[in-house]
Amino acid sequence: MSPLFNCKTTVLPHRIIIITAPSGSGKTTLVKRLLTAMPELAFSVSACTRAPRPGEQDGRDYHFLSEQDFKRHIDAGDFVEWEMVYTGKYYGTMRQELERIWAEGRTPLVDIDVKGALAIQEQFPEESLSIFIKAPSLEVLRHRLTARATESAKMLEERLAKAEFELMDAAEFDCIVVNEDLEQATRELQDLARNFIAQSAYQARQ
Ligand code: 5GP
Repeated sequence: MSPLFNCKTTVLPHRIIIITAPSGSGKTTLVKRLLTAMPELAFSVSACTRAPRPGEQDGRDYHFLSEQDFKRHIDAGDFVEWEMVYTGKYYGTMRQELERIWAEGRTPLVDIDVKGALAIQEQFPEESLSIFIKAPSLEVLRHRLTARATESAKMLEERLAKAEFELMDAAEFDCIVVNEDLEQATRELQDLARNFIAQSAYQARQ
């Protein structure tokens, strides 16, 4: 019998990769690249109450909920964490979503704001790898947000003010990746995720 079939089945512990960054740091692009390169990861689809942007799909990018439905889920205790990320706009990670991904034998990748990331990290201190993505500077951040043009001037200022505040928490995370060069940041992120998964598999065998 091949040694592959001879070894006992290993059940991987429940792990989570948390990716956080101020808005405009290039996090979404990096997350997409990571998911394409690593099928063992699965995007954890958050719930939110903001309107879908052009091209976004309900159930794929977010579960787009009304505020009333979102609050019903809060009351039912369905969220691992939730935040009013921007004025009047709620975002949250559902326990059911993490469980769905674990049941598939994959590792959830959560892409959330800094406060939410800290909350998940606190709940899964041993099981999580948390990565903070940083734009090289606030000027670059402003430029990226302006170029994206998905926000009104008021929203843009709110996102920038929040970004400045969030940068102060960067040191709370396991690793920081500076997204100056997209290719290099992608490589760094993949190395971190691969090492984490390999380490988890190793620990599960001990
Ligand atoms: P956007 O509106 O640009 O899609 O997302 C705004 C911010 O909300 C981003 O920083 C994004 O990572 C964060 N976010 C997305 N899903 C969640 C979530 O489930 N919980 C929290 N706390 N933040 C989230």
